[in-house]
Amino acid sequence: MTVAYISHSDCGRHDTGWGHPEHVGRLRAIPRALREDADLFHALEHIEGRHATPDEIALAHDRAYIDRIRGMAESGGGRLDADTVVSEGSWDAATAGAGCVLDGVDMAFDGRALRSFSAVRPPGHHALANRGMGFCLFGNVALAAHYARQRHGIARVLIVDWDVHHGNGTQALVEREPDIRFVSMHQWPWYPGTGAAEDRGPHRTIWNVPMPASAPRARYVDAWTRAIDAATDGWMPELLLVSTGFDSLQGDPLGAFTLEVEDFVAMTRDLVARSVAWCGGRVVSALEGGYAPDRMAAAAVAHLKAMI
Ligand SMILES: [Zn+2]
Repeated sequence: MTVAYISHSDCGRHDTGWGHPEHVGRLRAIPRALREDADLFHALEHIEGRHATPDEIALAHDRAYIDRIRGMAESGGGRLDADTVVSEGSWDAATAGAGCVLDGVDMAFDGRALRSFSAVRPPGHHALANRGMGFCLFGNVALAAHYARQRHGIARVLIVDWDVHHGNGTQALVEREPDIRFVSMHQWPWYPGTGAAEDRGPHRTIWNVPMPASAPRARYVDAWTRAIDAATDGWMPELLLVSTGFDSLQGDPLGAFTLEVEDFVAMTRDLVARSVAWCGGRVVSALEGGYAPDRMAAAAVAHLKAMI
């Protein structure tokens, strides 16, 4: 069973500054942790991803917004909002981040690697069609869903998002497509303020699971499992995409969920088993949040191991 670990050195060129929670050290922590598990390190297919093209990014984003990000980076950078930085390297980083996930999709369909985890930044699940926010520039996972449909001739895609924040961007970028379903579990009330359970999208293809802070771990896992059951009742996806935000770990500075590394192992194993029944085991996973770098890296490594 080939599992790919996909990354791109340009993701480190998105320079938010060390005072920003979404700093480059997050990404460096993952290969560091991976090297401590020699068996896993050698079992993985290590892939340097590619850059997504502007045409690919336009599958979900407005051309004017894409041009704006490129222009801002070329002219030295700036800020989209108080939290969301564009640096000189951010265009290369954001297109690499999206491109890695698109590579994961290609590998899942051409048989090179049925499953993959893309260690990328900036994250993507808050990015809207015409506006970046919440540290995110382009919707990496939403783009992967549209790309898979266009490039690989499939229709039904399930996206699941266990980041502690609502994937408002992913929802906005996919909710008008009735064949893409989205499950997001998130702390409530919390940033960005969207993601009520009643918000099912225009085709009722969105399953938002707002949860209180500091609940017992098992409550989150139960709610997550039930939402995925509901989203796939009588409906089988042809591809499973996972927005792996590890800020839902206990102790994360930007969230107050109580999940432990072993919960991500169990949730990953469950997703893999479901994907085998649904779609030949195709799982394409990509990093979103996670702001305690060593904890996040431990969870990412455990997630990779569980995918094998
Ligand atoms: Zn988050």
